[in-house]
Amino acid sequence: MMQIPFVDLAREYSEIQEELCDALRKVCSSGAFILGTSLKSLEENLATFLGVRHVVGVGNGSDATVLTLKALGVGLGDEVITVANSFVATVWSIRATGATPVLIDVCDDMNMDLSKVHRVVSERTKAIVPVHLTGNPINLKEVTSFCQDNGIHIVEDAAQAIGASIDDEKVGGMGIAGCFSLHPLKNLSVLGDGGFISTNDDSLARKLRLLRNHGLEDRDNCVLWGYNSRLDELQACFAQIKLKYFEQRTMRRIRLAERYKENLEGLLGCPQVPRGVRHVFHNFIVQSKSRDELADYLRHEGVETKIHYPIPFHHQKIESKDYRVPFRLSNTERLTSEILSLPIFPELTDEESEYIIEAVRRFYGS
Ligand SMILES: *Cc1c(COP(=O)(O)O)cnc(C)c1O
Repeated sequence: MMQIPFVDLAREYSEIQEELCDALRKVCSSGAFILGTSLKSLEENLATFLGVRHVVGVGNGSDATVLTLKALGVGLGDEVITVANSFVATVWSIRATGATPVLIDVCDDMNMDLSKVHRVVSERTKAIVPVHLTGNPINLKEVTSFCQDNGIHIVEDAAQAIGASIDDEKVGGMGIAGCFSLHPLKNLSVLGDGGFISTNDDSLARKLRLLRNHGLEDRDNCVLWGYNSRLDELQACFAQIKLKYFEQRTMRRIRLAERYKENLEGLLGCPQVPRGVRHVFHNFIVQSKSRDELADYLRHEGVETKIHYPIPFHHQKIESKDYRVPFRLSNTERLTSEILSLPIFPELTDEESEYIIEAVRRFYGS
């Protein structure tokens, strides 16, 4: 019997160990650790990769959203629309600005039901934060003109979706800004915490550069209330190295997903990828009425699975007066009980992926 972990980050490290260690030595002997040339060159390369004018490195993906909303003037008394089925950081980041998160339902593909946005906007709505969940890009064209007409900013939570696109338009360039995480579990990652913001808006980028560094416009002059949230030189170097292998690793995720789909479609619900959409499979999430039994069976067969996420935000123990749920989140509830994530990290071997497929097929008696 095989033992297959849900994710094994050490496998990626073992392939690029030398390069990472060289970078460590280079940064340490340069003596420059914060806001230096490595960050600047990473920001330029990421901007080119995403096809946007600016990228601003920050301390983590959550700060990317907090700082972006703050820079857009969102704060106490404002409302920001998002979803309940994301990682908790999405809702938390909104609340951290002082604004009230407003949670709406999702579609069968787990992304925000954009047709519900107009039903929950109020004069206090300042932004929406749609999430490209699991690496599946949400088509924001549907709400762009409505949001423009009503002075509502679109801030993309792209933490799980770097490299995803619709008709060759990459996530991160669809709204006023895209918020990305470089957390070790994300598709492009560093060796610790990290994140960045993408935008085509010059003045937003300028403000974000101030906000991430205490509001300092130079060494001595502070021009606004800021934060300390920067992407270290060391982490920038690691991201730069991993960016070289990123497309190749993304292709591997897509290949593994295709293999799952070819062999499991019909037995359980598989992600549907419409023409023109590039899904980058941060997770491969199946939907099954017998989810718990399937997860138990796979565990006994040595296959680790996860649920992303088992508790939607409106069922967390956190104070509920701090956010609003205008309508029942019925699709969110249903999905929570049916979703299961299968291992899909790029270093998963063909043998392992075949073993998982066989185990799932056996569970369904086929
Ligand atoms: C990981 C993640 C974040 C937060 O990123 P951190 O770098 O961990 O702060 C936000 N939103 C989503 C959807 C995420 O998956």
